[in-house]
Amino acid sequence: MKVDEYARKLYGRPVNQCTNEELYFTLLAMTKELSEKKVTTDGKKKLYYISAEFLIGKLLSNNLINLGIYEDVKKELADAGKELSAIEEVEPEPSLGNGGLGRLAACFLDSMATLGLNADGVGLLYHFGLFKQVFKNCLQNEVPNPWIENKSWLSETEKTYTVSFGGFDVTSRMYDIDVTGYDNRTTKLHLFDLETVKESIVPSDSIHFDKNDVKENLTLFLYPDDSDDAGRILRVYQQYFMVSNAAQLILDEAKERGSNLHDLADYVAIQINDTHPTMVIPELIRLLQEEGILMTEAIAIVRKVCAYTNHTILAEALEKWPIGFLNRAVPQLMPIIRELDNLVRKEISDETTYIIKDGLVHMAHIDIHYGYSVNGVAYLHTEILKDTELHNFYKLYPEKFNNKTNGITFRRWLAACNPQLAALITELIGEGWKKDADELKKLAQFENDDAVLDRLLSVKHAKKKELAAYVKRTQDIDLDTHSVFDIQVKRLHEYKRQQMNALYVIHKYFEIKEGKKPGRPITVIFGAKAAPAYVIAKDIIHLILCLQEIVNKDPEVSPYLKVVMVENYNVTLAEKLIPACDISEQISLASKEASGTSNMKFMLNGAVTLGTMDGANVEIADMVGKENIYTFGESSETVIARYERGDYKSKDYYDKDPDIKRAVDFILSDKMLSVGNRENLERLQKELLNKDWFMTFPDFEDYVKTRDLAIKEFEDRKAWAKKMLHNISQAGFFSSDRTIAQYNEEIWKL
Ligand SMILES: *Cc1c(COP(=O)(O)O)cnc(C)c1O
Repeated sequence: MKVDEYARKLYGRPVNQCTNEELYFTLLAMTKELSEKKVTTDGKKKLYYISAEFLIGKLLSNNLINLGIYEDVKKELADAGKELSAIEEVEPEPSLGNGGLGRLAACFLDSMATLGLNADGVGLLYHFGLFKQVFKNCLQNEVPNPWIENKSWLSETEKTYTVSFGGFDVTSRMYDIDVTGYDNRTTKLHLFDLETVKESIVPSDSIHFDKNDVKENLTLFLYPDDSDDAGRILRVYQQYFMVSNAAQLILDEAKERGSNLHDLADYVAIQINDTHPTMVIPELIRLLQEEGILMTEAIAIVRKVCAYTNHTILAEALEKWPIGFLNRAVPQLMPIIRELDNLVRKEISDETTYIIKDGLVHMAHIDIHYGYSVNGVAYLHTEILKDTELHNFYKLYPEKFNNKTNGITFRRWLAACNPQLAALITELIGEGWKKDADELKKLAQFENDDAVLDRLLSVKHAKKKELAAYVKRTQDIDLDTHSVFDIQVKRLHEYKRQQMNALYVIHKYFEIKEGKKPGRPITVIFGAKAAPAYVIAKDIIHLILCLQEIVNKDPEVSPYLKVVMVENYNVTLAEKLIPACDISEQISLASKEASGTSNMKFMLNGAVTLGTMDGANVEIADMVGKENIYTFGESSETVIARYERGDYKSKDYYDKDPDIKRAVDFILSDKMLSVGNRENLERLQKELLNKDWFMTFPDFEDYVKTRDLAIKEFEDRKAWAKKMLHNISQAGFFSSDRTIAQYNEEIWKL
């Protein structure tokens, strides 16, 4: 299998005479052909992972690795004077997700294929993925992000379905993306699209468009802006389009495999990823009735097929749709949803679990009553669901609740993004870790081997140099690669507390001005997109970008402290940032982050976590021991109790802690106003002083102390390298192969 043969076939030229773009399309064609050959559908029962998001990222290197030809291809190209990494730059990133939830779905597909499971993903083919973030005057601007080219990873299929909405029908078409497993089968990601969608109604420089004609806009955007009703109802149309197609596909395929539909549960399991695909439950009931099955039996069948994953306890994220929306968009489902609610009301006295309340349909309640499994995504998260958020449901159905701690695929998040570290690990313990992540434990035997520790440090330094070159090229900021790289990258959300990290930056700025210089320079790196309508989140971005201006341009401060907010944080950037990190910031308010997965990616790449006891940080701390992680802040119990008492007053902390006062006052100082906008900065300062809903002030002192300790301990390079190696050696548990094996053993039973 030679790249050269394909290049000659496609372009009539050998590799050394092709452009990088031509080589990208050559590799695309070659990889598609190879992965197609590995497709196998076997097994009576099949799992469908339905998700509104699949944040798959670029696919070329990952597919080359999984197909086992990465090294050969790289060498053949190098021999012809071509660089694989430059060819990868040509590939557009499919950003079909917002953040962790969508990235999780993508890691899960990789693991399902790698474990050889009979399992496909089902979602929507958004023409524009998550918006592209552009900074201007220290503010976030949003620009459409097209990714579909004539030749892409998508393959058009013959499958089309009719989907009926209130008052009109549409015809869908299914497109497939091959999901290569590492050294195993290829499965499919099925993405449904509508042929009448008109990309031309979207201007090139803005994500605002006419939301009224569903036939023209249905699959245009991932999560259309929901700040108004037109945007909110468009989401309902999208969700129903997704699940109606999924349900029709699932029933078709089950019949092909021999199901008579009465026995559907022997043929099908459906994982509902968060509440977005919830309508698959009433839709399947509707379709089974059309097949001649009575309502009671249809409900019983679906109850044995559907399983639900909860991703958050933030109340505002639990979807509730007004009955009026559903009546307009999907009137055929409302009688079924009413019947599902009636059945609950007949059997259960606890009104808090009803499906329809005050004119709203509670989507998660449908999932919990009519699914057979409810899982949280980290130990602490599942405990909080059982004890507080979903306690009333837990009392009804204790047997349904289970935990599946999230994971990440080690092929993308180590083998592909950090080949230098992957090579070192393979040299030390062999390459079994790529399939059996527990083998990383063998690294522990090298914790006192100075030569190994030195090499680990030099791999880290090489990755820091690569990142520094990227930041210089794209944002013209000089980074000192001998400084501590302290990184916080994730969606911008108040509960994740980027604002607390920014307050630390201000605190350090003052300390340096006072002559209290850190022993080693610190580079604070942020990367985050804010939802376009999330005002405070955008104000926090403004604060960080203003700090970047002030700190980096201050000759007294910048030798000791640098601030960088990378533009347009996405999977491709994550793959550059994570391997270069020394300190991984995981500082969400305890009880609020369901799991987190970037914490796992960082750990695997030899960063040491600085975090609260929240989400999967709790399990990371358990695995590595307190010598090898920096934890701080109030416990989830304390935080939950504070919310229950409702007596938190941020102003009290501001009044009694001079460090907090100084940092918060700085937000509206003349210096800040010389680079930033009063409106944004004032609103943010007020929010902190009057609300601080995610309680940054109570944790601030401990955060500063703990972060300073980590930076100080970074100085003992050997001891630090030992911590790095220990973190890597304990990361095996966080492989998504382990997570998916547990889903299969305990939920899907394929
Ligand atoms: C892993 C990942 C996330 C999730 O990050 P968290 O810190 O767990 O919220 C979000 N975005 C991208 C691009 C990722 O790769």
